[in-house]
Amino acid sequence: MSDSNTPTTSNAPNDSDAGKMEPRDFIREIIRKDLADGTTSKVVTRFPPEPNGYLHIGHAKSIFLNFGIAEEFDGACNLRFDDTNPAKEEQEFIDAIEADVRWMGFTWAGAPKHASDYFDTLYTWAENLIENGKAYVDDLTADEIREYRGTLTKPGRNSPYRDRTADENLDLFRRMKAGEFADGAKVLRAKIDMASGNINMRDPVIYRIVKKPHPRTGDTWCIYPTYDFAHGQSDAIEGVTHSLCTLEFEDHRPLYDWLVENLPTPARPRQYEFAKLNLSYAVLSKRRLTQLVKDGHVDGWDDPRMLTLSGLRRRGIPAVAVRDFVSRLGVTKSDSVVDPALLDHCVREYLNKVAERRMAVIHPLKVVIENYPEGETEMLDAVNNPEDDAAGTRQVPFGRELYIEHDDFMEDPPKKFFRLGPGREVRLRWAYFLTCNEVIKNDAGDVIELRCTYNPETKGGDAPDGRKVKGVLHWVSSAHAIDAEVRLYEHLFVDPAPGKDRDFIEALNPDSRSVLENCKLEPSLADWPVGEALQFERLGYFAPDPDSTAAKPVFNRTMTLRDTWAKIQAKTS
Ligand code: ATP
Ligand code: MG
Repeated sequence: MSDSNTPTTSNAPNDSDAGKMEPRDFIREIIRKDLADGTTSKVVTRFPPEPNGYLHIGHAKSIFLNFGIAEEFDGACNLRFDDTNPAKEEQEFIDAIEADVRWMGFTWAGAPKHASDYFDTLYTWAENLIENGKAYVDDLTADEIREYRGTLTKPGRNSPYRDRTADENLDLFRRMKAGEFADGAKVLRAKIDMASGNINMRDPVIYRIVKKPHPRTGDTWCIYPTYDFAHGQSDAIEGVTHSLCTLEFEDHRPLYDWLVENLPTPARPRQYEFAKLNLSYAVLSKRRLTQLVKDGHVDGWDDPRMLTLSGLRRRGIPAVAVRDFVSRLGVTKSDSVVDPALLDHCVREYLNKVAERRMAVIHPLKVVIENYPEGETEMLDAVNNPEDDAAGTRQVPFGRELYIEHDDFMEDPPKKFFRLGPGREVRLRWAYFLTCNEVIKNDAGDVIELRCTYNPETKGGDAPDGRKVKGVLHWVSSAHAIDAEVRLYEHLFVDPAPGKDRDFIEALNPDSRSVLENCKLEPSLADWPVGEALQFERLGYFAPDPDSTAAKPVFNRTMTLRDTWAKIQAKTS
């Protein structure tokens, strides 16, 4: 059992059999073995966020692992808030975390649980440790404790308070609980070994005084257990069998084990560690995300540029694509940095299949069709999703005045430019061939309007003489267009590893968001559900933002169309 933390199988992304093959990784191997030899009868995992921020894409990896394993092995996964630090934790975060886990498509076993549910038991167990001579109250300051702790190369020194009697410790600990001492004046430490090669075993602090009301227990407590004293014990109380955490807790495992062994816990959980998800051009630590929000570098935790689950959702990224992404990462024990192009690829692959297509013009240029009757409108059939016949068709209004994309016109186009230019002909999607006859400019010399003619015999398809036209442009009838704001996003950071060579704030991308006003949408886009992505033909995937009003819809660009991941793969394979 002791060496069961060694990875036995690497977990390469199983692209070839996507969705068919059972996921295999070292943690699942351990679980299969534990179930086979009877060590475990029912797998219980937990997802244990600290409610001091919103969940990010890294947490999605942990959610997918913990809840995914529970589903696969017919076990259970608890949602447990690791709420041991009232100084930083808030109800807003608890609510957001629950919403995000549900959005990912998972349900926790029973009611949400909290480390704070166990404060009474944890307190009793701390007294047990004291009675058994395995914990003591220390009066050293935080700085002194750090100094006495030693370093990786230097053993620690015993605190002068280490040899207090059990009675004295019990009395002091009870008075800590009663609020007799100020924050930081005393702590309770486990009495393990100040010379241990593992610094976590050098008499770790297990209780500290924090005179702050707790979101759940209010003013009941002014002493709180540390993460180390709460986590494994909470696992044991809940009957968690496999406690999965990230690699930085590997060195805490001896302490985790020491505590469950030295306390009258009802069960014996085991901790296993896996590598965190890191993404280039992003920061995922909650401390940094908090700074971005608090200092106003972004509009909030759900800013669509944030790689929080709520930010991704607001941008229109579907939960299915996030699950696909984390499922491809595998679960290993070696840290790596993932290219965000892989996430983008998963989003495009999914949206290409399911997203409806619509026409929208984000840099409008007016077109007047001089041979089209004034005041007339006709309805043209347009296919909603060429990848999905069941999505059907809709009708799009066409008339004498249209908008096309400014980029789709060039006054002096090179040969390879197959879009519109003076004297050139293009096809309008779902409509007619169009020829540009005249270019109208304002006093500054900017092109502001095109005078064109259409060919009535080319409706919905090709020319009767079989003539081919290469360029196909999207368009919106100006008489029917909905005015909208469109927000375009780029990576929030310009450095691949923000914070590596300079402060991560300096690496912020000043162009991470551009706001386009007066964009033109086809009328079927009125009241499109917030957060539901669709494709603006030729432009990308977009989804309405919650800032939308009836008078002015606001769309976020979820993703461009060009798949850079496929290119990267082609180059490297
Ligand atoms: P951060 O480093 O962002 O502050 P954290 O680990 O303190 O994150 P918690 O709320 O304690 O955040 O995390 C809940 C669970 O999610 C933990 O089990 C943690 O190991 C896991 N987790 C956090 N970040 C990642 C990540 N980048 N990849 C995979 N799992 C993660
Ligand atoms: Mg944490």
